[in-house]
Amino acid sequence: MSLAKKVGVSGVAQPSKFCEDELCPFHGHLKVRGMFVEGTLVKLKGAKFGTVQRTYTYYNKKYKRYERRKSRIHVRVPQCLDLKEGETVLIGETRPLAKSVSFVVLGKR
Ligand SMILES: [Zn+2]
Repeated sequence: MSLAKKVGVSGVAQPSKFCEDELCPFHGHLKVRGMFVEGTLVKLKGAKFGTVQRTYTYYNKKYKRYERRKSRIHVRVPQCLDLKEGETVLIGETRPLAKSVSFVVLGKR
């Protein structure tokens, strides 16, 4: 759709649906800048917010092994993306949208 803005990230496809969400990076006025993170969408809260979990390895010096760690990031979910829990998504940093939300989902991976 020509009305959709381009988000300047490689691998981010335009959503096929249209939305009138003000805080949508494709159809609203939300700017994406800063960090990009890939993770699993583990929780959808209401229609607009969710939680993304990221797993990473951390080297434990004392035991000389890697341990698995995880962190959770609260995200804004645009209305034009059809997302389900358990899907892998790419998220981008934005301005703070709520007390703990400063990331927005850009699409599936
Ligand atoms: Zn949208």
